[in-house]
Amino acid sequence: MFNLVMFGPPGAGKGTQSLRIAQRFQLKHISTGDILREEVRRESLCGKLARDYMDKGMLVPDEILVNILRQVVEENRYVNGFVFDGFPRTLVQAEELDQMLEREKLMIKLVLELEVNEDELVNRLVKRATDQGRSDDKPEVIRRRLETYHNQTEPLLHYFRNQGKLVTVHGVGTIDHISDMLYREIEKFHP
Ligand code: AMP
Repeated sequence: MFNLVMFGPPGAGKGTQSLRIAQRFQLKHISTGDILREEVRRESLCGKLARDYMDKGMLVPDEILVNILRQVVEENRYVNGFVFDGFPRTLVQAEELDQMLEREKLMIKLVLELEVNEDELVNRLVKRATDQGRSDDKPEVIRRRLETYHNQTEPLLHYFRNQGKLVTVHGVGTIDHISDMLYREIEKFHP
């Protein structure tokens, strides 16, 4: 199995690029944001717990995310690999994911970071608010989500760098060009 993590701030293009990568390399795309939005829509217990955090631009507690991930990994034993999109976002999640995969004799092979400057991120998120009407794409929530990324998620870069798994790709340009750069990095590991 070939497992990779798409890493970067909100608005970096993780979702768009993860979907393309998953399709091209026949991998299973796992977006924890999508899973949580679906739980909120269904008004499940997990969705009810998660909603307040999401609406405020805060991270949903690790315990909820770890449970979701455990279920997803168990339900997809026979896939070629996973593209994790928006997970892990904390050190606890990263360590849990490593342990979860290790128990199945699996591992994360590659972490692709999309690097995008702050002004561009804000512009994209504001545009997405208009196009998709996501409830957490309001200006004050956008600011909080970027802060949350810098304070709680960005420090994970050290963890991945220490593991020798981190590759950073410039995330500004056409979607096709960025995909090509990402595909090239993946093909070094997964021809
Ligand atoms: P996303 O679509 O990835 O930007 O996620 C939307 C929201 O879902 C985030 O702002 C968080 O509130 C929540 N969320 C998604 N993934 C995670 C995660 N791995 N850990 C904690 N919260 C998450």
